Amino acid sequence: MANERIYNFSAGPSMLPLSVLETAAAEMTNYHGSGMSVTEMSHRSKVFQDIFDTTKADLKRILNVPDTHEVLFMQGGATFQFAAAPLNLIGKTGKADYIVTGNFANNAYKEAKKYGEISLAASSADRNHCYIPKQEELKLNADASYVYYCANNTVFGTEWKYVPETNGVPLVCDMSSNILSKPVDVSKYGIIFAGVQKNMAPAGMAVVIIDKALAGHELPYTPLIMNYQTMIEKDSMYNTPPCYTIYMLGLVLKWLDTMGGLTGMEKVKAERAKLLYDYLEESKLFKPHADKEARSDMNVTFRTGDEDLDAKFVKEATAQGFVNLKGHRSVGGMRASIYNAMPVEGVQKLVAFMKNFEAANA
Ligand code: PMP
Repeated sequence: MANERIYNFSAGPSMLPLSVLETAAAEMTNYHGSGMSVTEMSHRSKVFQDIFDTTKADLKRILNVPDTHEVLFMQGGATFQFAAAPLNLIGKTGKADYIVTGNFANNAYKEAKKYGEISLAASSADRNHCYIPKQEELKLNADASYVYYCANNTVFGTEWKYVPETNGVPLVCDMSSNILSKPVDVSKYGIIFAGVQKNMAPAGMAVVIIDKALAGHELPYTPLIMNYQTMIEKDSMYNTPPCYTIYMLGLVLKWLDTMGGLTGMEKVKAERAKLLYDYLEESKLFKPHADKEARSDMNVTFRTGDEDLDAKFVKEATAQGFVNLKGHRSVGGMRASIYNAMPVEGVQKLVAFMKNFEAANA
């Protein structure tokens, strides 16, 4: 089975650990002697409740979530949270600050404008989002209900290397593409949310980690399904949760433990990223998109400067078993997404392929 797998550099949905897929396959028709698949279980059954409780407890433990915060599993992906966050939080002052460092932050900014007075605290659009603004460049308002940013910009390949200081204003962060890749201080955040389809599970869900003090102040027309207070009270089961995705997240978390948890992941992540960026630094053919100090360890964006050559690279890479390397249309070129499940070996082989390609096309 392992021999048939290829190196999948997709930005998401993306690779899951092989052992996780094998466990899921083995348990597909009869989960732990229950006589049924997890996909067939009532979400109110004891057997599913155990899966749910264990997954939630493991996530809390691994991310070191303090008791002030609650973990929610919500359908609708990360985009659902672009509406849920303002609907739940903006009522305090009617205002919020948004930092736009990529297209997903921009989507969140556009969505939030429907619900209040939104200030653009900073934007990196002037250089096609190849950098992250510095703390002193952020124009933050003391009366904002919250400050919003996106920790890792999947499309452009930039990543925040610091947590913005907001002087007590709650921080809302989209961590979709770098959650679980390194330890984070959850206590610094009002809300962390993440679509699960990169580092956590199959698509169809977002993990939301919320400071419980922020819930219960939603705008009156907030749909119940988007209401954090309802979801906290119902322990994410106001309606049917994405049961199978939660189960898969549970398997991924068990795998993460075997990899040394978040400090283990941080080490591997640094190793993978160094391999690619060191080569991009020395390459005469490939140029990285992101400024050096803003480079993402999860999404590596680069190009040759010649669209035909980029296309040739993607085609030849695909033929060699390195797939999904075509960059997003707003950046062009290539993007190698190297999330938690990508083995170091996959990046070593990709770099070797890139070196050969460079030699052949110099
Ligand atoms: N935020 C980030 C950083 C993303 O990378 C993505 C998806 N690639 C989204 C939000 C949107 O996620 P979803 O498709 O789950 O709504």
